[in-house]
Amino acid sequence: MSTHHRIFIIGSGPAGYTAGLYAARAGLEPHMAAGLQPGGQLTTTTEVENYPGFPDGVMGPEMMELFQKQAERFGLTVAYDIIEKVDFSARPFRLWTDGGDEFTADAVIVSTGATARYLGIPGEQELLGRGVSACATCDGFFFRDREIVVVGGGDTAIEEATFLTRFASKVYVVHRRDTLRASKVMQERAFKNEKIEFVWDTHITEVHGTDSVTGVTLKHAKTGDARLLPVTGYFSAIGHKPNTDIFRGQLQMNDVGYLEVKSPSTHTNVEGVFAAGDVADPNYRQAVTAAGMGCAAAIDAERWLEAQEEV
Ligand code: FAD
Ligand code: NAP
Repeated sequence: MSTHHRIFIIGSGPAGYTAGLYAARAGLEPHMAAGLQPGGQLTTTTEVENYPGFPDGVMGPEMMELFQKQAERFGLTVAYDIIEKVDFSARPFRLWTDGGDEFTADAVIVSTGATARYLGIPGEQELLGRGVSACATCDGFFFRDREIVVVGGGDTAIEEATFLTRFASKVYVVHRRDTLRASKVMQERAFKNEKIEFVWDTHITEVHGTDSVTGVTLKHAKTGDARLLPVTGYFSAIGHKPNTDIFRGQLQMNDVGYLEVKSPSTHTNVEGVFAAGDVADPNYRQAVTAAGMGCAAAIDAERWLEAQEEV
């Protein structure tokens, strides 16, 4: 037995909840599978300072609770399901959860966002949760008065490093080039922070430790010189991979897995399936742009459903 919905939303980040809000207000009674990370990436951060409407900033998890509350107020239903398989080859579309439930839907909005990437070096996965992490807000507390290393040069790396100085005695930021990708304001904040030391033009090639992290090997990108940096924490902050594995072979994506939409709309290559947020956006990847795309996806879906009824 399957349950039918007019609009099914996969993913509960800013894109998913905004799509849910708009679709609910259009009377389409949308249903959402929230996935493994209810609330999405912002639940792993502290202060969000650049989402309009919050002049004093807002904590990421709190902001996502507000998104959920607002969408549910108009009738979005949310289940803490993970979608494991989809069939977009015929309508109604079919979706299966990890619990074995089957859903059908007239339209689907994919807003599955992205997940933290790791370097893929020896020791990294073996010591995950034992000194290796990709979430400073989740694990920073465990590194009080310790020396730790963050790898990456984007906003996430600089934000994580700055946050970690609340706990750690020293934070090394290891970056493969000699300039940061992070926004100027975040860079300046980090440069002024006495607990942060930048290690430029350098790769991390191994994480050491048996029960927990004891250090990392650093290798200079130009000279090839290697040395051991003794640290007890290693944070990967080298970006995110779009969560699109379950759509492979069904939805068009670029070479690194971002879904392709018919810009300036959110239509994918399958009529009736729409994509919004980081999953379809290699360029901006911000909460406000994800929310904007979620709004666009709900409006695109509403118009498309209406057109189907007219036929
Ligand atoms: P996400 O937030 O990635 O949410 C994806 C959702 O999809 C999750 O709920 C997940 O559970 C769900 N999902 C995935 N697969 C499945 C599945 N198979 N079935 C069901 N559900 C699934 N942006 C800013 O604008 N300001 C900031 O200050 C800021 N800080 C950040 C700090 C950090 C540490 C990080 C990592 C990112 C930050 N960003 C910030 C970027 C911002 O978080 C993202 O741009 C935004 O969250 C993208 O929203 P989204 O809805 O596309 O996806
Ligand atoms: P990102 O901008 O893609 O940066 C990834 C960083 O990791 C880059 O510096 C990159 O180096 C480095 N890197 C990637 N692969 C590597 C590898 N194999 N080895 C070593 N280094 C590697 O990702 P992000 O920092 O997660 O940011 C993602 C998006 O979220 C961005 O749009 C960002 O603006 C947004 N965000 C915003 C905020 C905020 O506004 N407060 C906070 C966090 C994230 P190169 O620079 O050499 O490519």
